[in-house]
Amino acid sequence: MPMRLFNTLSGQVDELVPMDGKELRMYACGPTVYDYGHIGNFRTFLEIDVLRRFLKLSGMPIRHVMNITDVDDKIIRNAAAAGVPIGEYTPKYVNAFFEDLDALGVERPEIIARATEAIDRMVELIQKLAEVGAAYRTEDGSWYFRLKAFPEYGKLSKKDLSGMEDGARVDVDEYEKDSARDFALWKAAKPGETSWDTPIGRGRPGWHIECSAMSMKFLGDSFDLHAGGEDLMFPHHENEIAQSESVTHKPLAHHWMHVRFLLVDGRKMSKSEGNFYTLRDLLLKGYKASAIRLALISVPYRHQLNFTFDGLVDATAAIDRLRTFNSRLVKGTFADGENPEVQAAAKKAHEDYLAALGNDLNTAEARAPIFELVRLSNTAMDQGKFYQSDREAVASVLASFDAVFAVIEDHDTEPMRRAVEWAKQEGRLDDVAPELLAQQSLTDEAIDALLAERDQAKKRREFARADQIRKELTEKGIIIEDSKDGVRWKRK
Ligand code: AMP
Ligand code: ZN
Repeated sequence: MPMRLFNTLSGQVDELVPMDGKELRMYACGPTVYDYGHIGNFRTFLEIDVLRRFLKLSGMPIRHVMNITDVDDKIIRNAAAAGVPIGEYTPKYVNAFFEDLDALGVERPEIIARATEAIDRMVELIQKLAEVGAAYRTEDGSWYFRLKAFPEYGKLSKKDLSGMEDGARVDVDEYEKDSARDFALWKAAKPGETSWDTPIGRGRPGWHIECSAMSMKFLGDSFDLHAGGEDLMFPHHENEIAQSESVTHKPLAHHWMHVRFLLVDGRKMSKSEGNFYTLRDLLLKGYKASAIRLALISVPYRHQLNFTFDGLVDATAAIDRLRTFNSRLVKGTFADGENPEVQAAAKKAHEDYLAALGNDLNTAEARAPIFELVRLSNTAMDQGKFYQSDREAVASVLASFDAVFAVIEDHDTEPMRRAVEWAKQEGRLDDVAPELLAQQSLTDEAIDALLAERDQAKKRREFARADQIRKELTEKGIIIEDSKDGVRWKRK
């Protein structure tokens, strides 16, 4: 299945192919670990996960590198405020980030690169830039990239940089979006700040050089795909191109993917607006990790996703529908044979699903035929016209769906448990939905034991006790389903 993906650099949808004909080499800018990740960050990481899962499903081997920015202005500022060295400040957020990725079902990239472990590569690159006249040192011992040395500057973001001031400099990692200035490659050591003693002086890297050095370290001078959120296009990615290509004279990456920024309730997410959510905030409100995943990936990556709580409720209902159908499919008994209508629908749904993902990762169009197939299969089952071969055909479509969407198989219990545990440690129990707290205090074994007691009570015709147990469990968010094969339960 070919993968066609919009390429910011060419300005059109291009086929994504490995240059070496073997393995797709991709680099995605990772988190800056100065705080917990918010749902905007995870929207971007999830879309990249959807891409990598689809490539794998299509049989394409991949080598995916993600960096961890564990030294930058924000980290230095926050660590100083907390009164600890950055090496003591960041591990908590690195761990939290991976826990959050696990909760959301985001697969680990093949390689995870930490900025603080690649300082020597950054220094080497700056030295090479100095050799070709693209880097210069200032009096205080910092190093800057000379924009005038790279005439192609702006080719990714297509910005008109004609008003660019020669020699004007900027040393902060993030700067105004409309001006282009010589930017810091290396910042001279300041008292109290983390720094490294190196052949280019004592100091620390700028943010942009980190990604150039780490991507080339693991993927070579030129690789297939570079990805990140749309805010990174300029100046971060433009700067990466300038730093790398000034030395290699080869395209850093052939394909550039940018994920559109997420809005919340129609507005930019911000702490001061009160619409800022980390993944943990949502889990503590009682939303399942799978529902958050589905809500964040169901709008294609180039479209603006407007995150709302109604959207989360819809995602929760959609997952329930899929899981209920899946257990009907797995547990049901079906007669031998096949229903041609179901067979044809399964084949068509599968084709449409793959085609939509292959078409610039259109997740909205990809999920629609799957839900349609579920509807049609449910009807066929109700009418007794669903057979053994239909089960196989439909199960294989669902497996293909879940290889990318990853929401049918239920992994929701552990992230919920961990989030509540975390809230206890952080003194945030007030933020935990009461129903969730009650639910978490019940272990699976305790629920089984209560249900066994209820069963005994019914057999002894002590219906008041049986009802009381049901009520108690329901209040704690446990859904009990009595069926002829016995009793089943799930957490709400
Ligand atoms: P950061 O940790 O700030 O470096 O960001 C990590 C990733 O999240 C980057 O790829 C950003 O572009 C992306 N990102 C940040 N905010 C948002 C947002 N509101 N919507 C989508 N992606 C975002
Ligand atoms: Zn980067």
